[in-house]
Amino acid sequence: MAEVEKRRGSAPVPHEWTYAPAPESREIVSIHERYGLFVGGEWLEPTETYTTLSPASEEPLATVAQATPTEVRHAVAVAREAFADWSALPGSERAKYLFRIARILQERSREFAVLESLNGGKPIKESRDVDLPLAAAHFFYYAGWADKLEYAFPNRKPRPLGVAGQIIPWNFPLLMLAWKIAPALAAGNTVVLKPAETTPLTALLFCDVVRQAELPPGVVNIVTGDGSTGAALVDAPVDKIAFTGSTDVGKAILSRLAGSGKKLTLELGGKAANIVFDDAAIDQAVEGIVNGIYFNQGHVCCAGSRLFVQESVAEPVVDKLKRRMATLRVGDPLDKNTDVGAINSKAQLEKIEELVAAGRDEGAEIYQPPCRLPERGYWFAPTVFTKVAQSYRIAQEEIFGPVLSVLTFRTPDEAVEKANNTPYGLSAGVWTEKGSRILWMAERLRAGVVWANTYNRFDPASPFGGYKESGFGREGGLHGLAPYLDGNGGDA
Ligand code: NAP
Ligand code: MG
Repeated sequence: MAEVEKRRGSAPVPHEWTYAPAPESREIVSIHERYGLFVGGEWLEPTETYTTLSPASEEPLATVAQATPTEVRHAVAVAREAFADWSALPGSERAKYLFRIARILQERSREFAVLESLNGGKPIKESRDVDLPLAAAHFFYYAGWADKLEYAFPNRKPRPLGVAGQIIPWNFPLLMLAWKIAPALAAGNTVVLKPAETTPLTALLFCDVVRQAELPPGVVNIVTGDGSTGAALVDAPVDKIAFTGSTDVGKAILSRLAGSGKKLTLELGGKAANIVFDDAAIDQAVEGIVNGIYFNQGHVCCAGSRLFVQESVAEPVVDKLKRRMATLRVGDPLDKNTDVGAINSKAQLEKIEELVAAGRDEGAEIYQPPCRLPERGYWFAPTVFTKVAQSYRIAQEEIFGPVLSVLTFRTPDEAVEKANNTPYGLSAGVWTEKGSRILWMAERLRAGVVWANTYNRFDPASPFGGYKESGFGREGGLHGLAPYLDGNGGDA
């Protein structure tokens, strides 16, 4: 014992730990100066264009197409033409293409990860360790179902719908593309996909993968552009719209499609409760809280943005959380040590700033750890609000940024009531040592996904989707195939 103490005493201890820069090279990606529309396996010259940026530096990255309604209708017509042959292929043949795409994504994952971080602002360690592996896993998973549809939906003669129009947001650009394209193709549909305006580049690089996999032309078509391109896709003669994005746009699409006969699934916003009981492993819970809200700058539909802590442990939990927040490194998305990257766009930064100002005005107490933010680009420090009342905007509205609101509760009933007091219902987290309490809570929480003693865990076999204003339809698992098939006994 004495010797150990002596050794400890003489070991050189640095005054402070610092991290040397560990930048990922961007050389691995070659970004074209200009991209057209990917239709029928060819690049079509667009009539209108816009410039896509790096949100970390505001540097222009490429000129991309702003697809017009005529161009969108053309893409849908090409997808329609390709549908006959694609849907007639045996499932085992379609599976081969999907397996090929999955393997190419794995082989080229570093290239995709760098591009995702450049165009979207997320830390490279997240795009490398989360977005890319999950995107490839999704293609592998649905490749496995392509020749087993009759087993998946017995006695129902599942048939593909036709052409699916797919519209995705900017927070997980390639992963959302995988969530959309993999099940649609496995089921025998062809697709026209519109990426988000601010993050088109990995979808455009994916076109290269589609070619490399020798997917028949017209099965996957990518049309870039802003909301008007999305609206044009909704109005085009597609058989189904699969939309992931905000609740406001989801509602607009729902009313637009009423009576049209087109099928629809909506994956919308959230305001998840992350609930910590007094018997939880506190340090583990603090890691889960940090992961729940600061992962991907809080640009996560299922982010644990409302933290409910049992009153008796509220003080130690918040203290530990603040200490942990001070160790988060905010900055260059391409640095492998970065924990929190850039906010995706100027518009999103302004939305976060507005809601944070509202939190201060309404009387909540704000804490941000000291951190130096880069001068150029869009940044927001990790933030926590305490003394939050349920009526405050920061407890009601989706902020979609690195901003946490802390509330407290005394009993499990109160936790359930407060957690469910939201128009959303996408996800929730429960931290407790007791298995029985986890089940009791999971039964009562009105949320599509409930995580226990973990947060933000995804698996392609596990369905994901919402209740109430978080939308309808599920992605992932068998549930994610049903909305791409007729005769599945599934939803809308
Ligand atoms: P958004 O503004 O609703 O945009 C989503 C997509 O729809 C984008 O591609 C967008 O184009 C397009 N769009 C905009 N207006 C449209 C219209 N009138 N008709 C058709 N398409 C239109 O949402 P966002 O700000 O990109 O993404 C954040 C939201 O997505 C959050 O609310 C988040 O919770 C939600 N989200 C949900 C899930 C889920 O699985 N439930 C997953 C991720 C994100 P532009 O890029 O030009 O705006
Ligand atoms: Mg938008």
